[in-house]
Amino acid sequence: ATPTALMAGVGRGAQLGILIKGPDALEASRKVDTVVLDKTGTVTTGRMTVTACHPAPGRSRGDLLWFAGAAEAGSEHAIAAAVVTAARAELPELPEIGEFTALPGLGAEAIVDGRTVLVGSPRLFAERGITPAFDVPVGVAVPVLAAVDGEPIGLIEVSDVVKPSAVAAVAALRDQGLRTVLLTGDHEVAARAVAAEIGVDDVRAGVLPADKARVLDELRSAGARVAMVGDGINDGPALATADLGMAMARGSDIALRSADVVLVRDDLRVVPDAIRLADRTLRIIR
Ligand code: ADP
Ligand code: MG
Repeated sequence: ATPTALMAGVGRGAQLGILIKGPDALEASRKVDTVVLDKTGTVTTGRMTVTACHPAPGRSRGDLLWFAGAAEAGSEHAIAAAVVTAARAELPELPEIGEFTALPGLGAEAIVDGRTVLVGSPRLFAERGITPAFDVPVGVAVPVLAAVDGEPIGLIEVSDVVKPSAVAAVAALRDQGLRTVLLTGDHEVAARAVAAEIGVDDVRAGVLPADKARVLDELRSAGARVAMVGDGINDGPALATADLGMAMARGSDIALRSADVVLVRDDLRVVPDAIRLADRTLRIIR
């Protein structure tokens, strides 16, 4: 390898807003043919908002937001932030929480006012054997269920929007002859809606954080050379497994640490730029 070419690649990347973690990171990344995109926070803004509240019979909206908002205050998840924002906007005060447990890819559990509050996906509730007691709407919005001491208290709908740059980025990746895959812990319906909007080739939905790296392994075992773009704590192992791991700069520390490349701007159009750069730099070396 010629260190000069690698250093030039690193320097050119910095100009484009692509931070390459030293020449080694670039050299380690072989020429990719597949790009895996995390959905929440990467393809979507991750700035979610509460769009509806459905308290269970006998419960008020305030009740639902009080418990769910308090519990979610312990979480770093974008979905949690939306619930907390809505709760703070509508309620004078939220209680302090006791012990908090994040349940990656599913939700969270926290002690609120001496009671155990569970918030998260329908899958989490099914795993805990809790029946929501009301209909869970199926659609693009993420349903956040809440229960107090095992009793369901309602459902909060949280919606997210696709980043304007995602459509252009996926189109550019296709023009470069790359296959694109949307990877998410979210349910199939929401994943398909986003996939259709941005035009990716493939979708892997309902993938738990621990399994994201396994999906990467599978793709690589099948002969693909994979770049992964992610932002979350959940994406760390997958970013480390990818041939080329790319983290959004506003992502979690773990994502930033696991990636080969950090994308400084919150604009997905730098993803095709970064792959072209890695490609070109490696071609000069070989
Ligand atoms: P993605 O892979 O799209 O970034 P995650 O793996 O972080 O999504 O989460 C998958 C699903 O788990 C979410 O769509 C949501 O239903 C649920 N979930 C995870 N964390 C939380 C939380 N703190 N509150 C509510 N729901 C959550
Ligand atoms: Mg994410």
